[in-house]
Amino acid sequence: MTPTLAQQRISELVNELNEHNYKYYVLSQPTISDYEFDMLLEELKKLEEQYPQFLQPESPTQRIGGDITKNFAVVKHEYPMFSLANSYSREEVADFINRIYKTITDEKIEFTCELKYDGVAISITYENGNLTSAVTRGDGEKGDDITTNVKTISSVPIKLRENDYPLKIIARGEIYLPRKSFEIINKEREENGEPPFANPRNTASGTLKMQNSAIVASRKLEAFMYYFISDSISENSHFDLMLMAKKWGFRTPNPEKRFIQKCSTLDEIFSFIDFWNVKRFELPFDIDGVVIKVNHIPQQETLGYTAKSPRWAIAYKFKAEQAKTWLESISFQVGRTGAVTPVANLTPVQLAGTTVKRASLHNADQIEKLDVRIGDLVFIEKGGEIIPKITGVDLSKRSEYSTPFRYVENCPECQTPLIRKEGEALHYCPNEWECPPQLKGKITHFTSRKAMDIEGLGEETVELFFNTGLIRNVADIYDLKKEQLLSLERMAEKSVSNLLYAIENSKKIPFERVLFALGIRYVGETVAKKLARHFKNIKAIRNATHSELTQAEEIGEKIAESIQHYFAEEKNNTLLNRLISYELQFSLSEEQMSGTSSKLSGLSFVVSGIFSTFTRDELKENIEKNGGKVVGSISAKTNYLIAGENMGPSKKEKAEQLGIKIISEEEYKKLIG
Ligand SMILES: [Zn+2]
Repeated sequence: MTPTLAQQRISELVNELNEHNYKYYVLSQPTISDYEFDMLLEELKKLEEQYPQFLQPESPTQRIGGDITKNFAVVKHEYPMFSLANSYSREEVADFINRIYKTITDEKIEFTCELKYDGVAISITYENGNLTSAVTRGDGEKGDDITTNVKTISSVPIKLRENDYPLKIIARGEIYLPRKSFEIINKEREENGEPPFANPRNTASGTLKMQNSAIVASRKLEAFMYYFISDSISENSHFDLMLMAKKWGFRTPNPEKRFIQKCSTLDEIFSFIDFWNVKRFELPFDIDGVVIKVNHIPQQETLGYTAKSPRWAIAYKFKAEQAKTWLESISFQVGRTGAVTPVANLTPVQLAGTTVKRASLHNADQIEKLDVRIGDLVFIEKGGEIIPKITGVDLSKRSEYSTPFRYVENCPECQTPLIRKEGEALHYCPNEWECPPQLKGKITHFTSRKAMDIEGLGEETVELFFNTGLIRNVADIYDLKKEQLLSLERMAEKSVSNLLYAIENSKKIPFERVLFALGIRYVGETVAKKLARHFKNIKAIRNATHSELTQAEEIGEKIAESIQHYFAEEKNNTLLNRLISYELQFSLSEEQMSGTSSKLSGLSFVVSGIFSTFTRDELKENIEKNGGKVVGSISAKTNYLIAGENMGPSKKEKAEQLGIKIISEEEYKKLIG
């Protein structure tokens, strides 16, 4: 392909993909499959790598992130971000409407009702159709500049559509995490032995403050825009402005889905509230109420603002869905890491459209705080969380014979006294080498898809093999014999040979996944990958000192401590030596190792611009292969800035200010010899 043709194709693909993105996220009317979309994106990615000079800022490939933000700059809002006054009852809503009728006496007044998204408020500025900054609400006057992270969100346009958008426009809206994405993230955290996040809203807000935008991109946040500020908006009604903004590419509330509706009477407003109070649980995301606004924009201006909120809008907050039921018993679950979590077993009751039999009690402190006792009539609530929680006790129904609940002191599975480390909320069973759920949990983690991927050794089969004494730990898997397996009632010839084949095959699983499979606390997939790359083999990790460990990328104190703790345990080493003897991969493969050196060890690089012999990714990979570290932005700790063609002036300036060496591609090559 000639450069001219490539440029043309890149431009075509960018337009086509952005159009599909718009149809998918804004119109909810996709015209191609996800697979087709991915194929086009892949084609674009390849072309951009080959011809980085044609990379367009609005390219959808720019949403995959990768830039690192160390500190989020605090930025003053051009227009303050007000928060809405809240109301919790119909009377308060009626009062609000009456106040408006008293101020505007001689005109017809119309309202809009919209969903109140349970997320993080954001203010995004567009100049000449390009997204230039995205700032959090903060204290309403000043917020954090999180532009890099917001750009990864597919439902936020990077470039506006059509040509009639205002030259400068500020879009305000809410970034949220869909429930489905929330569940996926928590499932992964569980697999990594990390505590799950509490609810989608907190997860969204934490995600937006992450330093690595590639992780932000992977979390699949979404956004709705519901307010716009510009000098040159000609629409007179909020409702029409939402429709107009949709044409410009913004994802605004959809009237067809009843996410927004015009209302003229109090009855219509209440009917909107009642509808969503019931239907909200069917939405793919959380809402916590309804927002009522005066529709006519000049009337909004007449009404104005109090010190904190607009006088022309109010939020009606839903009451958390609540039910009352009896607490029959409290049971305790022991996880792979030994963490003990209490679960309340309830008399089944209807709540928010589902039958609830169990509720979360979090930990011992929570039980004590609520003073929940067996036999109590308890209140349960469903908020953003998947499992409902107990929020209180109906003391009027408490039996006079009831006694305070005593938290278990011994592991419910192995009777070992539980421990609770200072500063930790949960109790742990320290008996990691004997406690059955911990042993089984470690094995299932080891065989899971993202680890050793041994098909046929799922939870049930592990349970069976464990209970019949065939396996006690992960090394025993490689000792399994055909005759042993055939003697089990449930194992047929075919499945036995499939299983043995899968076990044999797992010996080819690369080092980083083996490392993850070991289930060292805090060593999840990403950390395992970083460790494998940095240390190259298990021996180096085993022998590394605390400070050597923390020198590796993304390895902090907590992780380093956990790794050292793991290798200090003789039983782990015995197990590991057995796995090594079965020839699992405990070092990087030759392919992964080829061209590696430690010439750049301890040095950090910023890469900027276009290069002639490398694509940017190739150059980054090359630096890492030689033991160097690639960072996204320049700081006093950066050693080199590798400058390509068309490098932005701000990076150069900053490097010069901090006295950081700026080198060319050629000089870099000399550095690695
Ligand atoms: Zn135990």
